[in-house]
Order: sequence, then C-alpha cells, then structure tokens
Amino acid sequence: MKRKMYALIVCLLVLLTACNQETTDSDGLENKKSDTVTEATSQVEYEMPNDLIRSDSTVIDDSKTKSIITSQESYQIGTYIKISIYADKEVPSSLFDELFYTIDQYEKKISTSILSSEISAVNKSAGIEPVVVSDGLWELLQKGISYGQVSQGKFDITIEPLVELWGIGSDHARIPSEEEIQKAIALIDYKQVVFDEADHSVFLPDEGMGIDLGAIAKGFIADELKEIIIARGYEHAIINLGGNVLTVGHKPNSDTWSVGVRDPQGGQTDILGVLYLKDNSIVSSGVYERFFEEEGVRYHHILNPFTGYPEQNHLQAISIISEKSIDGDGLSTSLFVMGLNDGYTYASTRDDIEVLFITDDNKIYYTEGLKDIFMLTSTLYEEVGRYVE
Ligand code: FAD
Ligand code: MG
Repeated sequence: MKRKMYALIVCLLVLLTACNQETTDSDGLENKKSDTVTEATSQVEYEMPNDLIRSDSTVIDDSKTKSIITSQESYQIGTYIKISIYADKEVPSSLFDELFYTIDQYEKKISTSILSSEISAVNKSAGIEPVVVSDGLWELLQKGISYGQVSQGKFDITIEPLVELWGIGSDHARIPSEEEIQKAIALIDYKQVVFDEADHSVFLPDEGMGIDLGAIAKGFIADELKEIIIARGYEHAIINLGGNVLTVGHKPNSDTWSVGVRDPQGGQTDILGVLYLKDNSIVSSGVYERFFEEEGVRYHHILNPFTGYPEQNHLQAISIISEKSIDGDGLSTSLFVMGLNDGYTYASTRDDIEVLFITDDNKIYYTEGLKDIFMLTSTLYEEVGRYVE
C-alpha cells in the first residue's frame, strides 16, 4: 500500500511540476538533469526522513534571466512543495536538504496528525497541565493569537475541535449534528489559552480544547525557508508551499515574478490572472482547496468559529499580498471569514498589504495597490477593482 502511495505521490509531483501556480518565464529550455554536485554548501549533514517524497534537482540554463535555475520538489505537510533558486551556477543539493529538513522539523512540531508533535502534547494536556513549547512554536502561537485579535475571533487557533468534528479533507468528512457543533463551539476561544512567558509553556484550561495551526503554519514555514536561502547567500528564489508563494528578491534580470492566481472554479492548473511580485508573498484561501459536497451544498475547510459551519458569505477565494508569508496566511483565513465588507474595510486600514477578493458571482475586487500589479487573464470574471459598500 505504502509503495503504491509513494508512486502516486511521485506521479503527482511530476504532474504538478508542469502546472504549479507560479508561471516561470524561463524560455522552457530543456531541463538538464543535475550532475553530481561536488561542492557542499554547509558542513552539516541533515538526517532526512526516510519516507520523504522528493525529486532530484532540475537545472535550467535560463537565457532570459541569464542565470541557472535549480529546482527541487517534495511532498510534505500534506501538500506539494517546489523551491526554485536562481544563481550563477547550480545550487548544491545540500541546500535543499536543509530546506526540506527544516519543513520536516516544523511538521514534527506543529502537525495535529503527528501524535508526538508539540501541538499534540499541548492538546492532550488540555484541562490537565501546561506544556513547554520550543521557541519557533511559541512565536507562531503568539502570531496566531494576534490574528484572533485582528479578526475578533473569526480566526481562532483553538478551532481544532471543530476541524476534527467536520474532518474536511480527511476520509471521515461528514455533516455533524447541531448538538455536536454546539459542543465543539463551546471549546473554542483563543482568549482562554494560558501562556507563561517565563518558561514558554502553553495551557488549554478545558479538557477537549485543541489548537490547530493549519491556517498560518505554511506561511510561517515559508518565511523560515526564505531566511535560510538568504543566509546561504542567494538573492533570487521562489518558494511554493501548496499555493503559498513567497519570492526572494526579484529575478536576476530585475524582472518581477509572475505568479498565477488560481481560478477557484478551475483545476489545479487553471488561473484567472497573474500577479507581478517582488520580494514578497501571495497567499490564497478559498472554498476550492478542501471540501466535500452533499445535496448540492459545498462544505469547505474555512470554518466560522461562531456558527460552527464552513463560512458561507459569497466569497469563493481571497489572496493576500504581504511582505511576510505568515501575515498573508493569517489574513487569508481571517479576512475570508470576515467577508468582503469587513475584510475590505480592514484591508484598507493597512498600507502594508494588498487584498484580492473573488465573489461567487465572479466579480474581482481588490485594494488600490493591486491595480498596477494584477492582470486578469480569464473572461469568466469581471474586474471591478475598488469595493464600495
Ligand atoms: P487556510 O485558509 O490557510 O487554512 C484553513 C485551515 O485552517 C483549515 O484546514 C483548518 O485547519 C484551519 N481553520 C479553519 N477555519 C479556521 C479559523 N476560522 N481560524 C483558524 N484556523 C482555521 N494535510 C494533510 O492532508 N495531511 C497532513 O499530514 C498534513 N499535515 C500538515 C502539517 C502541518 C505542519 C501543516 C501546517 C499542515 C498540514 N496539512 C496536512 C495541511 C492542513 O491540514 C491544512 O489543510 C492546510 O494547512 C490548510 O492551509 P490552506 O492554506 O489550504 O488554508
Ligand atoms: Mg491561511
């Protein structure tokens, strides 16, 4: 079974390689398989997990940016990952070791599906005792709380009981009873989480409470990867963690990165437009990522902590452009649950982010700064621009 699973995922990697979201402008020169890289970038040997699904390097001699593009892909944190680094020569595989190892280490701390993870330890000790967490996780939890405050609880990291109840994206997805939903809602309140600054411990006061960082962890991890790439001396790269795209610098020829905005009604490869990015991040959230349908109703994975149901507010998807990917990730879920009106009002108070909203009547609204960096490519959508209540 496992072998079949690996084979399936490897095919997925190959398939998705051709059609991931960012549209690289390389002239499509054939990919040369990498020669064995002799130069080691770092002395550290990363002990890679033996079940890691990962490709070799593909190396493109890109005439347009006059650089060598070294890419590797993996399947981690439940999603497809692709990292491409532009440099004057091939990037040693040892740097990708470090990057995939870092993702793996965070997965082992954050995943609610790994019973030995730090987050699972916090959740298991709910109503019993505080649990000391590592620095990275402490920082991520503080960020999660801050998005609870920004969204007045529409984003809530203690959402885990409701995520678990609906099981959306898992093989036990179902519509829970009203009674079950009310029970789960009663356990959700980020303001109840007890943090002890002195020993970095976290305590969930009521049994049954649980933390789920699915809404911001990919953004956090992407930012960590960007820091490593820069620390290793590289200035031009694009990191794609299952649709969370983070760019390092611009392209070596000063071009911007052209990143496709997913068409929420299309398949993995269908885009409705292109965004031109430079040294920043685009994170999208929408009803198309994880869902099931029952009697013509779509139940997706962005849940309203107050109603206990997937948020239904005539939004199909939302994209956030921000400097840090964690902010894009936290805000993508927050503003989605806040809805177009409150979400747009909030976005207009921030001059460090841009937001694109896609409604279910195929209208595209966006904040001022997107006008010059967004190009609509699909005729199915109407580009409205500024939203006026
Ligand atoms: P976003 O909109 O960014 O977030 C939606 C997710 O946030 C939901 O899936 C839910 O987890 C949570 N959420 C929903 N509503 C709210 C709310 N109101 N407030 C706060 N949070 C909310 N997937 C797998 O299938 N298998 C795995 O083994 C697996 N392991 C993972 C390990 C890690 C460390 C991480 C970060 C993710 C993992 N995932 C895995 C994916 C995860 O289950 C989520 O589906 C994914 O992170 C959702 O990200 P998104 O950008 O698609 O959606
Ligand atoms: Mg998010």
